Amino acid sequence: MVDEQVVVNEDTATIGKAPTAAKRPRRQMEITLFDRWCKGCGLCSTFCPTRAIEADEEGRPKAIHPELCTGCQWCVIHCPDLAISVRQLNSRESDE
Ligand code: SF4
Ligand code: SF4
Repeated sequence: MVDEQVVVNEDTATIGKAPTAAKRPRRQMEITLFDRWCKGCGLCSTFCPTRAIEADEEGRPKAIHPELCTGCQWCVIHCPDLAISVRQLNSRESDE
């Protein structure tokens, strides 16, 4: 069994200025960190553009602000140990 953190963003995430509140995309993101695979290199917490992931006092990544995750996949693409999964749980209003 792999130890993992699963954190779900249940808030609204936006990039830049949304045209109107009614059209604002809503994304519910799920961030999963597989602690057993993570070697604590710090790439994800250092380069996450929204600070959704930050390092704890031991330098281990924690998804402490999942509501800020935009689903950009930077952390997933660059993690050398394939220790992160980020997926969108719902559809955006603009996709409906
Ligand atoms: S990039 Fe991957 S290996 Fe490095 S700290 Fe983040 S989860 Fe761990
Ligand atoms: S998908 Fe992007 S915004 Fe979300 S945690 Fe990863 S790097 Fe940060």
